[in-house]
Amino acid sequence: MQNSNHKKDKKALRINISAATQQFLDQSHQLLIDGVWVDSKANETIETCDPARNHVLANVAIASSKDVDQAVKAARKALKGPWSKLTHFERARLINRLAKLIELNTDLLTEIEVLDAGMSTNIARLTVSNIVEMLEYYAGAAQRIEGITTTSPRHLTDLSEALTYTLKEPVGVAGLIIPWNAPAISAMLKLAPALAAGCTVVLKPSEKAPLSSLLLGQLCLEAGIPAGVVNVVNGLGKVAGVALSTHSDVDKVSFTGSTETGRKIILAATGNLKKLSLELSGKTPVIVMPDADFDEVVPGIVNAAFFMQGQNSMAGSRLFIHESIHDELMDRVKFYTEQLVIGHGIDPATVIGPIISEQHCKKVISYIKTGIKEGATLLSGGKQLSGPGLYIQPTIFTDCTPEMTIVREEIFGPVMTVQKFSTLDIDKIAELANNTDYGLSGSVWTKDLAAAHALVARIRAGQVSINCHRAIGTNIPFGGYGQSGWGREYGQEGLNAYLETKAVTAKL
Ligand code: NAD
Repeated sequence: MQNSNHKKDKKALRINISAATQQFLDQSHQLLIDGVWVDSKANETIETCDPARNHVLANVAIASSKDVDQAVKAARKALKGPWSKLTHFERARLINRLAKLIELNTDLLTEIEVLDAGMSTNIARLTVSNIVEMLEYYAGAAQRIEGITTTSPRHLTDLSEALTYTLKEPVGVAGLIIPWNAPAISAMLKLAPALAAGCTVVLKPSEKAPLSSLLLGQLCLEAGIPAGVVNVVNGLGKVAGVALSTHSDVDKVSFTGSTETGRKIILAATGNLKKLSLELSGKTPVIVMPDADFDEVVPGIVNAAFFMQGQNSMAGSRLFIHESIHDELMDRVKFYTEQLVIGHGIDPATVIGPIISEQHCKKVISYIKTGIKEGATLLSGGKQLSGPGLYIQPTIFTDCTPEMTIVREEIFGPVMTVQKFSTLDIDKIAELANNTDYGLSGSVWTKDLAAAHALVARIRAGQVSINCHRAIGTNIPFGGYGQSGWGREYGQEGLNAYLETKAVTAKL
């Protein structure tokens, strides 16, 4: 459907889904604890919805703190069980088996992500192939987990002859807490390295999109991963999330979500000084220099801002354009944006899908109103489309200034803010980009590669791209500077986050 005629899309109510997906939706959705699917102790469930139709998909069990405790106990028991006796190669074989099973279930997992998280089919399919690749990568990495041999301590004078080496050991029971925006890949970014390291896990998906995590749990069992190694407890953040992050028998929490919740996780971890990995919010700068190639820049920066309708942590929501090209470029960006097809993600033509919930729609619309009130110019969009789904037009604000709320705060929706700059001084441009609490990502668009590399070196963010955006990959470390997080996922650094190092010295 085009941006302007959403009302014609009555088809969205009668989408075609596969028999396998329908069967998965129709089955019961319980908690996976110790290899068994169980109801929550309080017998509580929550509805999960397809935001593109505002339609209930399934009732899913939600865990109480007692259920979380059971799951942690199961993970602790499994850490001492047969799982701990497997060699790295045996673990790798199981991880590869899981990769194969997920690959065989690509269509099912894709459709579940589209329906439950409001992704478009193209993006969901890409994330599933990334999940398979990630499991294969970490299966390989598991085979290469190695310590070092090194010189022995000299200050122990009686150790004239000694041997020192290091062992890499699993950090233990890991609590994995993930958001709703890309749940399957978020889960796998934690699960794959945790399994490779030999940890056991309790995965808590977001209550707003829990289905793909349940499917992954089911596939882990089918792959032969021993009972209790992977436990999945859907639940509310304030109940299950709190229970997991405060639990005294959880060794590590890996959290992806908002900076606001990240702060609570840090406080929750103090009881037993859990190890923490935090992937948090962003407010990503996109810098367009005067010599940039418009044909590349226009689709590039529109995609940077509106990929997954801005519901992604790397959304290029703060655009900086040199004044000499600002007006012409923005005319083209506006035109291009207004052609984007809005609709249900199941339609392969869809580029802009739904906003996850009514509550989140209200939040995004309220930011748009604040932008207008604070004096930004609404160049395009700005409206919520009439139902049945939850859609907001891709929205562009020009004449923005650094102190505006829409420029400072993460909106996590389809809102691009544009600021003009007049200087060509690299340090000053970097200062504009760095004027934020966050530091997750950024991109620079120019034909002058020397200037690009100089600028990239000055931008304080964990992932910065030149003439492209969101250049993430299985083997490339990803994470935030500043209030965008602690630590890295992806690549070898992603595996290190689940390993402890033990140094051993033997007097000979
Ligand atoms: P959120 O912080 O509201 O929730 C994330 C998870 O934490 C959910 O599972 C939720 O149930 C749980 N939770 C909520 N309160 C909790 C508490 N007190 N204790 C423990 N757990 C709690 O975030 P969201 O709305 O689900 O996701 C959007 C946010 O995630 C955005 O800020 C986005 O930038 C961020 N995000 C970051 C990355 C990254 O890689 N840096 C990736 C995706 C999303």
